[in-house]
Amino acid sequence: MSFTDLKLIDPLLKAIEEQGYTQPTAVQLQTIPQVLAGKDVITSAQTGTGKTAAFALPILQLLSEKQDAPRGNRTIKALIVSPTRELALQIGNNFKAYGRHTNLRTTVIFGGISEKPQVDVLTKGVDILIATPGRLIDLEKQGIINLDDVEVLVLDEADLMLDMGFIDDVKHIDNLCPKEKQILLFSATMPYKVEQLAHTILKWPERIEVTTTSSAAKNIGQVLYYVPKRNKIELCLHLLRNEIEGSILIFRRTKFGVDKLEGALTKNGYKVETIHGDKSQTDRQEALKKFKNGLVNILIATDVAARGIDISELDAVINFDLPNIPETYIHRIGRTGRAGSSGMAYSFCGADEKNYVTTIQQLLQIAIPVEESHPYPLDPKAKPITHKSKDSGSKHKKGRKSVASKKKKKRWY
Ligand code: AMP
Repeated sequence: MSFTDLKLIDPLLKAIEEQGYTQPTAVQLQTIPQVLAGKDVITSAQTGTGKTAAFALPILQLLSEKQDAPRGNRTIKALIVSPTRELALQIGNNFKAYGRHTNLRTTVIFGGISEKPQVDVLTKGVDILIATPGRLIDLEKQGIINLDDVEVLVLDEADLMLDMGFIDDVKHIDNLCPKEKQILLFSATMPYKVEQLAHTILKWPERIEVTTTSSAAKNIGQVLYYVPKRNKIELCLHLLRNEIEGSILIFRRTKFGVDKLEGALTKNGYKVETIHGDKSQTDRQEALKKFKNGLVNILIATDVAARGIDISELDAVINFDLPNIPETYIHRIGRTGRAGSSGMAYSFCGADEKNYVTTIQQLLQIAIPVEESHPYPLDPKAKPITHKSKDSGSKHKKGRKSVASKKKKKRWY
């Protein structure tokens, strides 16, 4: 099936051709007709499947067909809410590329940078707005954004949005838009809280699922190293010296871990960039740019910071820390071996991460091959290091935190 079979209009077909896409991806094939038919959809698909075009193309089509009717000033008719700034920018770039032969105006707004340029563009009028929740709500409160004419609302990476604590913001944004609208919800995973949100705000949605598990394992070589936690950095250096080449994305669970590894690799002469939740917007964009342009070949990131970002043509992904959520493993390794090319995923498992391997393998339904001949093997009898809880003996229930201590809580991603 081709894009023409999806009944897309010529200005979009032209842009698609210019992008070099020859045929629609699975998620596009399933989602585009439903969106064009005006249905609400819940699509579970991860980044790399072509999901952005799956909502951007039909939205551009719906709006551009309506634009032929006489119209006054431009008002926001499609609103795309994204959890992170990088993802928002990326979605914006896609809309601009696909919509370049239409008359529609798109803009992206997010926090962490000055409002002024964003306000200037908004006052001139846009048809499509891509926004992170905080800045959107801020500018709406100031009366700069009006969502009364929104016809399509997209919630992208809904699971991440909820993980990041945006549930109330999302509900508020839904309320700021008219009741009668089309909602498209995209999520890499469908945990209960996403289902619950969908149940509250969507109407008779079509469910679309693009299976990632089997495809994840297809083009990607996977290898597992059992290694003591204290030797992970040495193992990483050993692999970088002897085995892994090209552009490499290394995942760590926390920002502290990212910084620590950056220090170690830099000391050993590697050119490294990092992204995590505590870096300024400019620094994150700069780091990504350097990585994408090939100025550095190693990027170290936390899951949350790297989620949704389209970094293509990766040669290898290193899971320096294994993720505790098995789906995250699939998202991570799915970043290599894209578009039919082959890639490698290296995973380091310490004594306390063995359970994660079990759940990941259950999800993948394959056993990840183990590399045993390396200089830092883990003693098979090694037990996880258990930290004695400081709270033991406390009369207070574990997990109960004062408001003040919650406020002090720093971001770990
Ligand atoms: P996404 O999942 O939206 O982040 O897209 C991942 C990558 O796939 C992006 O670089 C898109 O430009 C690319 N892409 C999207 N649709 C297609 C298609 N039909 N054919 C080839 N590449 C595509």
